[in-house]
Amino acid sequence: MSHEAAAQKTAQDKLVIRNIGLLLSGDLAQPIFDRDTVVAVGDRIVAVGKETNLDISGATVTVDAKGTALAPGLIDSHVHPVCGDWTPRQNQLGWIDSYLHGGVTTMISAGEVHTPGRPKDVVGLKAMAIFAQRTFQAFRPGGVKILAGAPVLEHGMVESDFAELAAAGVRILGEVGLGSVKDGKTAHEMVGWARKYGIQSTIHTGGPSIPGSSLIDKDMVLETDADVIGHVNGGHTALPDDQITALCEKSKRALEIVHNGNERAALLTLRTAAELKQLDRVILGTDSPAGSGAQPLGIIRMIALLASVGGVSAESAICMATGNTAKIRNLSGGLIAAGREASFVFMDKAQHSGGKDLLDSIKKGDLPGIGMVITDGVVSIQRSRNTPPATRVPEVVKSR
Ligand SMILES: [Zn+2]
Repeated sequence: MSHEAAAQKTAQDKLVIRNIGLLLSGDLAQPIFDRDTVVAVGDRIVAVGKETNLDISGATVTVDAKGTALAPGLIDSHVHPVCGDWTPRQNQLGWIDSYLHGGVTTMISAGEVHTPGRPKDVVGLKAMAIFAQRTFQAFRPGGVKILAGAPVLEHGMVESDFAELAAAGVRILGEVGLGSVKDGKTAHEMVGWARKYGIQSTIHTGGPSIPGSSLIDKDMVLETDADVIGHVNGGHTALPDDQITALCEKSKRALEIVHNGNERAALLTLRTAAELKQLDRVILGTDSPAGSGAQPLGIIRMIALLASVGGVSAESAICMATGNTAKIRNLSGGLIAAGREASFVFMDKAQHSGGKDLLDSIKKGDLPGIGMVITDGVVSIQRSRNTPPATRVPEVVKSR
C-alpha cells in the first residue's frame, strides 16, 4: 500500500509505541524525557507518558520499541529538490527515499535551482515555484514531507509578486543570492515584502557553490536580514572566521549549519553560539543534492560531528535537527509532545560501536543505527538499509 493510501486509511487509527528506552524530546530545554510510551491518533501525538498512566487500549498498531531510543523525525533544513524523487545534479533517482532511511521525515527546499532551464523571468519563476509547491505537497516518497516551491529573488520582482505567491501557497524563498539579486539593499526590500506576506526567507552565505553562483559576505547577510542565515559554514566555501562570529553576534536570525559546508566553520559557529548561549538558533541541513552528491545520512552525520568534536551533548545535537528547526520554521513536527506531528525515528547504538549506549556512541563519533521510521502515524520503514545496523530494533507487535 502506498503511504498516501495508508495515511488515508488510518486517518483516525491509534498508534501505541511502548517500551521506549530513551525518549529524546527534540526540545533543547529538556532533551531527555523520562517516559516510555507515546500514543498517537491519526497523524498527531495525543499522549506521552508512562505506560501505566496511559490508555493504550484499542490500538490499531502497537510498536514495541524494545528499549530503543525514540526521537522526532529529523528535519533537513536545506535541500534542493527538483522534480519528484530525481535530482538532475547527480542524475540520481530515489534520493528522498534514501534520506528517509537516514531518519529524515521533513525537508525544506532552499530553491529548486537545479531545474534544467530554470526560468529567470518573473512570470516563469512564480509559475515554477507554485508548480513545485503543488507537486511536492502531493508527492511524498515514503511519507517524507517536502516543503518546496522556493523561488529565488530576481530583479524585476515587485511587492505584488510576493502577495501573489503567498496567496498561491508559497511559504518559503529559495536562497537569496542564487538569483540575480546580489545587493543587500534590494534583497532587504524583497525579503521584507516576503515576510509581510508570511513567506520565510533564507540566504546563501559564503563563497560560490558552483560556477555561476557568487560570494555573499557578512555585510550582505546582515543587510538582507533573511530569517535564516543559510549554510553559515559555507556551501562549500566558508566566510573568514571573523565574519562568521560577527554573524553569530550581530544577527539574531537562525544559524544553519550544513553537511555540504566547511566542517571547521561548522564547529566555529557551534562554539560561538554556545558562548552566546544561543544554541536554540542552530539548525541543521545537508545542502544537497549538490555538487558533492546526495547524502542520505547527512543529518545523522552532522549530529555525530557536532556531538563528538563540537562539545555539545548528543541529545542536544539531535534537537538541532528537530525541535530547533521546527520552531524556527513553524513546523508541526520536531517535538515529542501532545499535539505535535506523529513522525518518529527509532535509533539504537550501531552494532559493535565502542559506545556504551546510543548517546555515548554518538558522542564517540559513531552514527546511530536506525531501526524504524514513522511518518504521520504510519510505519514507513523498518530497519534502515543505509545506516549501520542498529543493535536492537523495534517491532510491530499488533497491526489490525
Ligand atoms: Zn547556497
